[in-house]
Amino acid sequence: MNIQEVILCKFGEVVLKGANRQSFESQLIKELRRRASPYGIFKIYFKQSTVYVEPTDELCDMDGMYDAAKKVFGIVGVNRAAVCEKNMESIMTLAREYLPEKLAGKRTFKVDAKRSDKRFPLKSPEISREIGGVILSTVRGIKVDVHNPEVTVTVEVRDDNAYIRAGQEPGAGGLPLRSAGRGLLLLSGGIDSPVAGCMMAKRGMEIEALHFESFPYTSERAREKVMQLAQEMCAFCSKIHVHVISLTHIQEELRDKCEEDYFTILLRIFMMRLSERCAREYKCHALITGESLGQVASQTLKAIEVTDSVVNLPVFRPCIGLDKNEIIIQARHYGTFDTSILPFEDCCTVFTPRHPKTQPKIEDVMRELEKVDVEALLEEAYSTKQTETKLIYPNYR
Ligand code: ATP
Ligand code: MG
Repeated sequence: MNIQEVILCKFGEVVLKGANRQSFESQLIKELRRRASPYGIFKIYFKQSTVYVEPTDELCDMDGMYDAAKKVFGIVGVNRAAVCEKNMESIMTLAREYLPEKLAGKRTFKVDAKRSDKRFPLKSPEISREIGGVILSTVRGIKVDVHNPEVTVTVEVRDDNAYIRAGQEPGAGGLPLRSAGRGLLLLSGGIDSPVAGCMMAKRGMEIEALHFESFPYTSERAREKVMQLAQEMCAFCSKIHVHVISLTHIQEELRDKCEEDYFTILLRIFMMRLSERCAREYKCHALITGESLGQVASQTLKAIEVTDSVVNLPVFRPCIGLDKNEIIIQARHYGTFDTSILPFEDCCTVFTPRHPKTQPKIEDVMRELEKVDVEALLEEAYSTKQTETKLIYPNYR
């Protein structure tokens, strides 16, 4: 028997979105089509709360497509299923051929039958019983456990065909990319900011990134590391424009003219102001940072209050309530951790004060700021902006 497999993707919260549902669905389908392009020609469509990803010929790389589908936000479950005609004889034959390999080595199972075509002659419990019998007679050593099975075999009798699958893997969750507007991520070379970007992408945001460098105090390699991080984020975020702005002159001015203890907070004010300008230019409606409360001197509540007060855009800090080890788990999940820990300097680590102000008073900070020509420095720094585009694949549209 020539078994035909498809990938079925289950929607998450998307199904709850009432009137917006259609646009969410179409974003999701578009994203899956983009992901599919290197793996062959697939027919991708939506039907009965499920996205079907069907290979059109045997050249299609099902393993590659399956892995790619697991990184698409908006999908809660991904599974490979075998397809057959909607009659009990075909379903049983398919179960006999398809399931033994999938269930090899498993100790317990249950069958969950779903019959969305109510004209099908057998009811769901009857289908389950029949297929359970097939499994018990073809898979050695396996037993039924309806309460806590190691694997659940699902048989779905749908409008078009019948589908059999063993187990389901979690999808990336969240909402489809580009369903929630665009945000500008302040992307450093650290662990936290790539995670912050991926977390907001998970809620549907399209991610644009801004990196600050301080050449020659920061190296070319440090910048390459950030580009590599952006590239890795594309596995989940698809496409990221990375803008790079030089803070060198600003940092030298702050070093020469301001009190050392205020250096960090002053630099962050410049970073926020430049970020806001960049966000407005590229139609981003929020700033995103990897800050986590209390992690370093610039991340105390007081310091955050100061940095927030200099911009008029919402600032999203999805890591704010996470511990470092929780952020690391996310960084591994999104595939950025190994690059993040490569040892390169960041502009924030250049001229770091010995005793940074952790409880800065806004009046004192603003007084220090008056010692430099803020607007001229901003203007000059912004003019150094360069842009690179990172894509999930070189042939991404
Ligand atoms: P990360 O691990 O993300 O670098 P961090 O714990 O090192 O964070 P900071 O260096 O204080 O913390 O930076 C806090 C946030 O400020 C970062 O998460 C990032 O969003 C932003 N940021 C820091 N440095 C840069 C940079 N060079 N370019 C762009 N954004 C930056
Ligand atoms: Mg950092």
